[in-house]
Amino acid sequence: MHTLAIDIGGTKIAAGIFDEEDKIQRRWQIPTPTTSEGIDAQLANLYREAKEEAPDISGIGISAAGNVEGDRRTVSFSANIPTWIHYPLADKLEALIDHECPVVVENDANCAGWGEYICGAGKGSKNMVMLTVGTGLGGAIVINGELYRGSFGMAAEAGHLPMVPDGDTCGCGLRGCAERYTSGSALERFARSAIRRWPDKSDRLMELAGGNVHDLRGQMVSQAAKEGDDLALYAFGKIGEWLGRTMSALAAVLDPDRFVVGGGVVSIGDILLEPARYNYVRFLEAAAYRPHADILAAAAGPDAGMVGVADLALREARAQGESQINA
Ligand SMILES: [Zn+2]
Repeated sequence: MHTLAIDIGGTKIAAGIFDEEDKIQRRWQIPTPTTSEGIDAQLANLYREAKEEAPDISGIGISAAGNVEGDRRTVSFSANIPTWIHYPLADKLEALIDHECPVVVENDANCAGWGEYICGAGKGSKNMVMLTVGTGLGGAIVINGELYRGSFGMAAEAGHLPMVPDGDTCGCGLRGCAERYTSGSALERFARSAIRRWPDKSDRLMELAGGNVHDLRGQMVSQAAKEGDDLALYAFGKIGEWLGRTMSALAAVLDPDRFVVGGGVVSIGDILLEPARYNYVRFLEAAAYRPHADILAAAAGPDAGMVGVADLALREARAQGESQINA
């Protein structure tokens, strides 16, 4: 049995054929069409192409940036694809492929979290929280070995935990959300404010930014931090601190045994994770009298989301197969 995993991004669609051991057999990439109908048609084409390679494809998993409803079939909102408002993506695709196999749609952060849980840094944990530090802060929660989606598919939006009353305005319209203080954009913002506060120490960051503070990017801050630059280390210390504070808030509700941190900036390793570990304990209730969760860097690599959604598709295909046998 094989599954087809599809990751729909704002600019490109990546697809891969996976076997039952969650190993990728073949991959492609195409540009993302601009209309919902265009995307549906391309997904159907990908399925037909994939079937030529692996005629026994029995499930399709789609990872999408956005909010996926509790039915795991409908995208309620996506910042990348503006026409996806309560869009029945799974119904549309299943109709185009004559209902040959089931389609599961899942939020991209949940897919990456599930990938880490089954074959990355989350492996072996009982209750895991993954936090992805990207442009924003994504989350995924695994409880007792199952992906936790909430009642309406909206669980694990850790980036929008209200951390600071009346704090910075977030892209979601609320204020003081965690991702305003721990994300790739927060890293850039802390580094820029450090440059303004300590201009006499800003030579290296300003050099990397080509002399313009507004051109400073996260990768430059990472590079300077690896070289030991004070201001870059300060910026990582700040987002690390807020990462740890966010973890302690999540621990008050979920009490996980492991936090997995993903996203581009985690390649910096302990420069980010040590302040996160320190502040997690600092703000953890009854910290002296309870075990502390492990805080680890993601390990499943850039394919984590594809692996995760391929596995979810496999489970769905098996469940449907079993219910047909029982019927
Ligand atoms: Zn928010």
